[in-house]
Amino acid sequence: MYNPKSMKAEEFISHEEVMATLAYAEENKTNAALIGGIIEKAGLRKGLTHREAAVLLECRLEDKNREVFELARQLKQDFYGNRIVMFAPLYLSNYCVNECVYCPYHRQNRRIPRKKLSQEDIAREVTALQDMGHKRLAVESGEDPVHNPIEYILESIQTIYSIKHKNGAIRRVNVNIAAAAVEDYRKLRDAGIGTYILFQETYHKESYEKLHPAGPKHNYAWHTEAMDRAMEGGIDDVGCGVLFGLELYRYEFAALLMHAEHLEAVHGVGPHTVSLPRIRAADGIDPESFANGIGDDTFAKIVACTRVAAPYTGIIISTRESQACRERVLGLGVSQISGGSRTSVGGYLEPEAPEDPERSTEQFSVNDNRTLDQVVSWLMRLGYIPSFCTACYREGRTGDRFMTLCKNGQIQNCCHPNALMTLKEYLIDYAAPETKLSGERLIASEIGNIPKEKVRALVADHLEMIQKGSRDFRL
Ligand code: SF4
Ligand code: SF4
Repeated sequence: MYNPKSMKAEEFISHEEVMATLAYAEENKTNAALIGGIIEKAGLRKGLTHREAAVLLECRLEDKNREVFELARQLKQDFYGNRIVMFAPLYLSNYCVNECVYCPYHRQNRRIPRKKLSQEDIAREVTALQDMGHKRLAVESGEDPVHNPIEYILESIQTIYSIKHKNGAIRRVNVNIAAAAVEDYRKLRDAGIGTYILFQETYHKESYEKLHPAGPKHNYAWHTEAMDRAMEGGIDDVGCGVLFGLELYRYEFAALLMHAEHLEAVHGVGPHTVSLPRIRAADGIDPESFANGIGDDTFAKIVACTRVAAPYTGIIISTRESQACRERVLGLGVSQISGGSRTSVGGYLEPEAPEDPERSTEQFSVNDNRTLDQVVSWLMRLGYIPSFCTACYREGRTGDRFMTLCKNGQIQNCCHPNALMTLKEYLIDYAAPETKLSGERLIASEIGNIPKEKVRALVADHLEMIQKGSRDFRL
């Protein structure tokens, strides 16, 4: 029944295969020879199968767990260096016809005020985001064919790209909207989106159907096969994710990797990113009422095992996580984080007071409430380079072209210089004086780490031009 090349959800995410994988992992959780062999294979940097990765996640040998964490750190360093790409979510509308039990936007929630941004509202929100320094957005919207049809999403994307306030610009719009038909994905591709993001929430079909009791999202196959339709519609970069807390984390982890294997087997390229959110409190949603919540140690292990299993896939952590938790997992393989996020509709212009639930349109409460500048400054203190780079998609480096460069180790020659140039833009246009000072010091020391002399000279030249007012250089 299990067939990674099948186009049927229940065959490429075969429940029997997940259960057999979990049984195999349980049987081998103290098998030092097997685990050692898997770690050795992961060290070859070609990734792991879902079965192998599941054994690492289940491993109960402390010395081997330490090796997994060490390897995750090493791979993060080798593939992503000390750069962290920044983004922010932009909520367009919380009208939704679905009934996801973990989300306050579900149709039955009559308490929550329903809001949808007009194009003028979007222009104002985007201006506020540009004034913070953001260049990369993830657009979010509930599913509602009447209030939020695809035409509304397309028009909103156009508006977002059209706004140029002072030196600001949104250079990459990723889109996180409901599963759609191929022709709608084609329209999104033509609108110039970056990554199409869709969280599976849970891969466990029975739980999925219970957690999504009504609405189009109830259809497990339609939702699970969405990435195939997106790729058929010409979208090269897709972002997968699960919501930890809904089902057993082991199940989700194995199935998420099976999904990646399926995309690779069928389309020749796995997911561009994976998001690893944990369930959070929101209006009428108590995370304690979900029996499968995971603690910080397990969460860190999931991040480390994801990094060693899929070294070329970006890992995204949002402001659902606290500063302390984000700090812990950054070094284990996270490549993208959000900063200064608002998870309400229109929240950048009019932040909502959390103590006012009657008026709040937040999808979940944010655990890291710092401003973007505070996050940037914190990252630099920790030794990371905050990057506002959006170069790949704009240079046509998507899908398998991107993965080939990654696998050849070539992409790093672009990431590091681009990080320095986009950070420089941020420092000049948006940073607080102390952030600017430490950022300038960081750029001065990091420029020496560009290996090729020619590139180093080019970047130095571009930095100088950015200082004089030019913008948007990229490799
Ligand atoms: S998770 Fe998405 S689809 Fe489900 S209720 Fe919330 S907004 Fe709607
Ligand atoms: S060069 Fe490409 S992979 Fe590197 S940070 Fe920029 S967009 Fe991402």
